[in-house]
Amino acid sequence: MKPVRTRFAPSPTGFLHVGGIRTALFAWLIARQTGGQFILRFEDTDKKREVAGAREHLIRSLLTLGLEYDEGPDIGGQFAPYTQSERLSSYQDWAQVLIDAGKAYADPYTPEQVQEFREQARKEKRPFLYRNHRPENPPAWDGTAPLRFKSTPRAYTRIDAVMGSLRTGPEVIDDFVLIKSDGYPTYNFAHVIDDYEMQITHVIRGQEFLASTPNYLNLYEALGFEPPIIATMPHIMGPDGKKKLSKRDGAKDVLDYVRDGFLPEALVNFIASLGWNDGTEQEIFTRAELIAKFKIERVQRSGARFDEHRLQWMNGVWIRSLNIDELYDRSREFWPKSSAGYDDTYKKRVLGLIQERLKYFAEIPALTEFFFVDLPIHMELIDNNKQLKKLERTELKQLLEHAHVSLGQSNFSVEDLTQRLNGLLEQTGQKPGVLFSLIRIASTQAPFSPGLADTLSVLGPDVTLRRISQTIDSLL
Ligand code: GLU
Repeated sequence: MKPVRTRFAPSPTGFLHVGGIRTALFAWLIARQTGGQFILRFEDTDKKREVAGAREHLIRSLLTLGLEYDEGPDIGGQFAPYTQSERLSSYQDWAQVLIDAGKAYADPYTPEQVQEFREQARKEKRPFLYRNHRPENPPAWDGTAPLRFKSTPRAYTRIDAVMGSLRTGPEVIDDFVLIKSDGYPTYNFAHVIDDYEMQITHVIRGQEFLASTPNYLNLYEALGFEPPIIATMPHIMGPDGKKKLSKRDGAKDVLDYVRDGFLPEALVNFIASLGWNDGTEQEIFTRAELIAKFKIERVQRSGARFDEHRLQWMNGVWIRSLNIDELYDRSREFWPKSSAGYDDTYKKRVLGLIQERLKYFAEIPALTEFFFVDLPIHMELIDNNKQLKKLERTELKQLLEHAHVSLGQSNFSVEDLTQRLNGLLEQTGQKPGVLFSLIRIASTQAPFSPGLADTLSVLGPDVTLRRISQTIDSLL
C-alpha cells in the first residue's frame, strides 16, 4: 500500500467524545499501516465556539491513547502552521485565485434581504438557493463582505470509502461562503485548502459532513485540486441502537474513562470495534493487530452501538492480561487512602485476589477496603442473607466460636485454611452457603469477597480472629 497522509482536524470547542476519538483512531491506523503520516490540525475559525484549554485537552487525549501524530500545531512539520487561524494568508491567496477566475464574488446582501429571498422561495414552494440570487455586478471584494463561491451545479457519482457509491444531483450544489465578514474562512473553504496544501490523501470524518461533500467536490474542481479519498464515519448510537449517542447514555470524555481507570489499550480496542470488525469473531485486538488488520472498507455503514458494559468487559479482559507487577504499577493512584500504611507486597496480594473481577481501577477502593480497615459490623448483612437469617443468633454465635477455635490453630496458608474450613463443614454439619457466608461476613463485613481461604490468608490471623471475635460479641 502507498503511504497515506491522514489528519485529525478537531475544532477546539470542548471535550473529545468517543465519536471524535474514533475518527482520529481510524485515521491514525491507516497512516501507521502504510508507513504514512498522521497529522493534527486545529480548526479554530469559529472564535465564538472556542473553549479555553480545549487544545491541550485534545493533545492530551490523543497522546494518552498512544495516537501520536507526526506533524501538528505544537510540533510543527513540513506544512506548518497547523492551526487555521495562523494560515489566514493561505486562504486569502486561494480566495484571490478564485476571484481572478470569476469563481467567487462578494456577497452584497444584508441579512434582511437574504431573509426576503428565503420567504419568497418558501411562498413559491421551491428550495432557497443563494445561486439564484447572484448579483449581476458584484462589488469588488474588500474583505468587509462575505466572499461566496460561485458554484457550477452538476450531478456527482462519488465513491465514499465507507458509504460506497453515492449519487447527488445539481440541486444540492450552492454558492457557499468561503470567507466570512470577520476575515476568517469557513470550515468549508479552509479544510479544502489545508487538505490540499498538507497533501492529505485520506479524509476520515463524521457523517455530519456527508451532505456538504458535493459542494466540496465542486470547490475542488474550481481550484483544480484532486480530491482526497473520503471516508465518512456513521454515527455512534446509544445503547438502544436507535438514538445518536448522547452524554445521557454515558458518553463521556475519553479522559474521563482514563480517570476511571480504563486502560488505554482497552479503550483503543473498544473504540476500534465501534462499527468495525475484521470479519472473524475476534474481539480483543492489540494495537499492533489493529494496525495490521484494520481496513477502512470494512467499517459498517450503519450506526455503531455504544455499550459501556462491553467496554467494561473488554477492560476486564485487558486487566487480566497484565501480570501483577504491571497491574499494580498502573493502578497505583487508585488505591484508597486507608492502604497507605501497607506495603507493596501486601497490596499486590490483595490485587491478585480481585484481578479476576476488577472491571476498572476506580472500583479498587470499594473492592479492597476491608483489607485495610475494620469496617463497622453490619448486622443487616446477616439479617438480609437468605440462609443466615433462618438461624438463631445463638446458633450463629456457636458457629463463629467453632471457626475461631479452628482458625486460631491455622498457619494461615491457603492450603491449611481450605482444609480447616472444610473440616468445619463436617464438624458443624452446615452447608458452605451458611458457614462460609457467615465467616466471610464476620471477617470482611462485605457481602462479596474473593475466595474465602485466599481472603483470610491475606488478612492474616490477627485481623481475621479479631474480627470474628468482634462479630461474636455483637451477636450477644
Ligand atoms: N473541524 C471539524 C470538526 O471538528 C473537522 C471535520 C473534518 O475532519 O474535516 O468537526
